[in-house]
Amino acid sequence: MNPLSLNQRLASDRFLTDESASHITVDQELARSTGTAERLIAICPAGVYSRAADGSLAVEYAACLECGTCLAVADPGTLTWHYPAGGHGVQFREG
Ligand code: SF4
Repeated sequence: MNPLSLNQRLASDRFLTDESASHITVDQELARSTGTAERLIAICPAGVYSRAADGSLAVEYAACLECGTCLAVADPGTLTWHYPAGGHGVQFREG
């Protein structure tokens, strides 16, 4: 049996999205002025952060893998992140 590639493992993940609230909030102005926005776009392995057409930072929280990497690169006060409310979020099926 061949081991799964990273992309195959990620494709097997399941997400139960909390449609009522995002578990990630961003201070748009502070994220822009500190450079945090660009770091978030570059570092998130799930592509949660992207540049919206209006120049703001778009946050597609439903795809979050809950790895916590964004917290390590965000300047203080730019990002609020907590685990999704009970039962929601990612379910890893393959390791
Ligand atoms: S916790 Fe990980 S996957 Fe989720 S937004 Fe932060 S860097 Fe991206």
